[in-house]
Amino acid sequence: MSDRSPPASGADRRPGFAPTRAPGRVKEVSSISNPIIKDIRALAQKRHRDETGLFLAEGLKLVIDALDAGWEIQTLIVAKAEIGQELLAKTAARTVSLGADLVEASAKVLEAITRRDNPQNAVGVFRRRLVPLARLDLSGTNVVVALDRVRDPGNLGTVLRTADAAGASGIVLIGDTVDPFSLETVRATMGSIFSVPLARASEAEFLEWRKRFKGLVAGTHMEGAIDYRKPDYGAGATVLLMGNEQAGLTDRLTHACDVLVRIPQAGRADSLNLAVATGVMLFEVRRGALSL
Ligand code: SAM
Repeated sequence: MSDRSPPASGADRRPGFAPTRAPGRVKEVSSISNPIIKDIRALAQKRHRDETGLFLAEGLKLVIDALDAGWEIQTLIVAKAEIGQELLAKTAARTVSLGADLVEASAKVLEAITRRDNPQNAVGVFRRRLVPLARLDLSGTNVVVALDRVRDPGNLGTVLRTADAAGASGIVLIGDTVDPFSLETVRATMGSIFSVPLARASEAEFLEWRKRFKGLVAGTHMEGAIDYRKPDYGAGATVLLMGNEQAGLTDRLTHACDVLVRIPQAGRADSLNLAVATGVMLFEVRRGALSL
């Protein structure tokens, strides 16, 4: 391993690159037993993410999305063999100027970090960010999606991506859910994790917050009596409650809804996949806001 830290005066001073800390260090690593790489690989485990408050975002697009959205980067690992590529080099310089460390790694090291045979040429280590429930923007006709005990990383990632595309103003994770900062979930969001505010709450905290919310709480339920296209979502803000993949909504959450809606189905499937149902609902709730 070699250390090629730039002098403090080497920081990039262009607009948008203003450093808040001293420039980061630049290292070359080719061994997966290097302690830095061991720590980064440990972020695959939730326990380690919880202890450090850090998580991994894989791929140059995601890293740039995160930096553009102002997320704090701690370390950027790049493929040493590809550092000549303009966008990769620019992002590496930007990272160092922000005070984060840059690791120029061998393909073997990147494979070990991402657990993939054909790894991306960049992986960022970022600080997790959650917002308090009270900070979610429920002004106007905004919509926030509340997910009861979501278990599947792919579902959560897809819901985040869909919420971003539909212009939802936030997501609330209720109860014991999958970790939104796991590699699988972050991958499935395709970068939307960096643009949709994310809050966590116990069921009791959510129900307390719900008491102060004056808009419409629409629950989706297999026994909902109302067609999902019937409520007037344009009258104010909406909280859209989606149930757990196996069990649906708990009784307490069900009773906290103003309306229980159902998406009509044909065929033999007993329900829609959670992420699909969320997509159908979101584009209906946001229809007025999204019409061109
Ligand atoms: N067996 C579960 C049940 O009875 O609720 C099925 C859960 S479904 C896979 C996951 C969630 O997606 C549901 O709790 C609900 O929020 C939503 N969902 C799926 N299909 C739906 C439909 N046809 N109408 C309304 N919501 C639906």
